[in-house]
This record gives sequence, C-alpha cells and structure tokens, in this order.
Amino acid sequence: MNTFFIEYRDPLFSIIIFFAIIFMITFFSYWWSRYKHREDSKYLDNFLKQFCTLPSKDELKVLISSGDLSEKSWLLLASSYYKNGDYEKSIEIYNEIMIVGSSENKRDTMFLLGKTYFKAGFLERSKKVFLSILKVNPRNPQALNYLLLIYECMRDYKSALDVLEPLDELNKSIELESTYLKIMALLNSNKLKEDAKVQDLINIYKEKRQLEYIIFEYLFRVNPKLGWENLDSSKSKLLSDILWKVESKNLNLDIISQDKYLCELYSARGDIKLADSSSTFEFDVLIKLRGKANATLSFEYICKSCNQVSPFAFNRCSSCHTIGSSQVELSLSKDYYKSFEEENNSFQ
Ligand SMILES: [Zn+2]
Repeated sequence: MNTFFIEYRDPLFSIIIFFAIIFMITFFSYWWSRYKHREDSKYLDNFLKQFCTLPSKDELKVLISSGDLSEKSWLLLASSYYKNGDYEKSIEIYNEIMIVGSSENKRDTMFLLGKTYFKAGFLERSKKVFLSILKVNPRNPQALNYLLLIYECMRDYKSALDVLEPLDELNKSIELESTYLKIMALLNSNKLKEDAKVQDLINIYKEKRQLEYIIFEYLFRVNPKLGWENLDSSKSKLLSDILWKVESKNLNLDIISQDKYLCELYSARGDIKLADSSSTFEFDVLIKLRGKANATLSFEYICKSCNQVSPFAFNRCSSCHTIGSSQVELSLSKDYYKSFEEENNSFQ
C-alpha cells in the first residue's frame, strides 16, 4: 500500500508537481485564448451590425437634433442608399428627416422621398407626396414631371394628359409627350378593336411623323400588310428588330426589293438573295454564311440620351425617362431555335 505514496522529498514528487504546473499553465492559456477570440468576434459582429441596421426612430431623432451628424450628411447617406438600390433605407431616412429635420429643406426632402417611392414602385405613396408638393407649389415642373410618370405607370393616361396642361403653361415642350400618351391610351384601350387601333395609329403617324417604333411594332404585329404599306424606308434601320421578326409569309417583296437596307436584312435572314454583301457587318457575315452555321441576329437597346443599355425594347427610358431615345444595336449570336429544331429532328 505504501508504494502508492510518495514522500515530498522524493525527486519523483518534484517532477509530478512540475508537470502539473505546466499542465495548468497550458490549460489556462488555452482557455484564455479561446475566451479572447470569442470576445473579439462578438465585438466585430456588433461593430458590423451597426452598418447593417439603421438607428431606430428615437436614435435618429437624437442624432439629428444633437447635431452629431448634420442633416446634409443624412441626406447624403440616403442618396447613397438610393444609388445602391436600397430604397427601403433611403425612404426610412427621408421619413425621419421629414419629422425631425429643419423646415428649410422640407420641400426638397419631400421631393426626394417622392422620387424614391416612385423608383421603389410605391406609386400611390409617391403620388400623394407629389400632390402635396403641388398643393403648395402648383408650378413645380419636376413634381409635375414625376406626377405624369406616375399616372403613366398606373395607366391613368387621362390624368397624365391633364398634367401636360400646367407644363404647357410653363413653356415646356409637350408635343412628343402628348402624342406618346395618346398612343399609349389607344393601345391600352379595352373599348377599341384592333382594326380601329391600327387605323388610328396610321392617322397619328401620318399627322405627326414621330414615334415610329411604338407605332410600327403594333402594326407589324397585328396587321403586317398595312405596316408595309405605311413604312417609311428611311426608318428601316430604326425598326431593324421589328422587321427581322416579321414572318416570311408576311413579307412584301415589292417594297423590300426597292430598298437596299431591306434587301440586305432579308438576304441575311435567308428569305431572299437580293444582296451579296452589306456595309452592316452582321448582315455581311450572315449573307456570306448562307445558312451554313447556326448564327442569327440578337438585339440590345441603348438610350441615346443617357447610354443606358437594356436587353428589352423600350419606348420611354427607365433611367432618364426620355421618350423615343431607344437605339437598336445588332450582334451575332447562336441560333438556339434552329439548334433545338435540328436536335428534335435527329430524335425522330
Ligand atoms: Zn435614358
């Protein structure tokens, strides 16, 4: 039994004590480093959380009134959120500034709030904001412009046309806007039949000679025969994508053969062989390929006013709100439809 007890003078006792101390020091330093690491990451998380969440309503009130951050800084912050597409945070800041901010910038803040509501798609709220601005300043052109856009988005074209009256009184050019809104009202009308719409569009085009894209997009879709009859061949380039999509059975070869650009376009598509080359690179390549490769045209649309690029055709630019500023750009791409057809045929 005595063999299990070691006397304190025994060298073995010192060695055991020595290793016990080393173990304790190692354990303590390990525990301490784990604890510090956890504390550091907790601090970092809390620090980063400040940038993800906005101060609460009360905190914001204190911050603005205490002057720790000026009203201008808050407006800049809201503007940067707007530019990054974080409209919710931008709206929250504008709303708080409207409540606790100074009255000097209230109208500007209201305008920015209305603009952000519009961009975020809260049309009814945006309308309310702009109507209250116009109640105090009925001749504010920016507010009138936004109100017009809101009515257009809501498809309330009658109210949009009414907004043009005060803009006209402010000597703003409204002719293009007016024609555009009348065309949009016509196209979205449930009372008019397709034939009546086609005839009205042709009449508008004959009178105004503008907004060809929106007019001919409808004509070639609904009544290609009248589309060809009323087409001004000088506008063919502008309508390249619409003309490219016209079905082969609806082509008017008499009109096409009279125009160089149309001959090149339909020779490139492979419907006719009236051109051997083209000054347009994409047409030239397709004409020379003569259907030997699965290539076709693809389109994208650039706003001539602000250079915004869109994969979809537009009549009013979503960025700068200019009407009829879309310019079609051609490019070569793989013909997926043809590839799909070939694959299907190989299985039969
Ligand atoms: Zn634009």
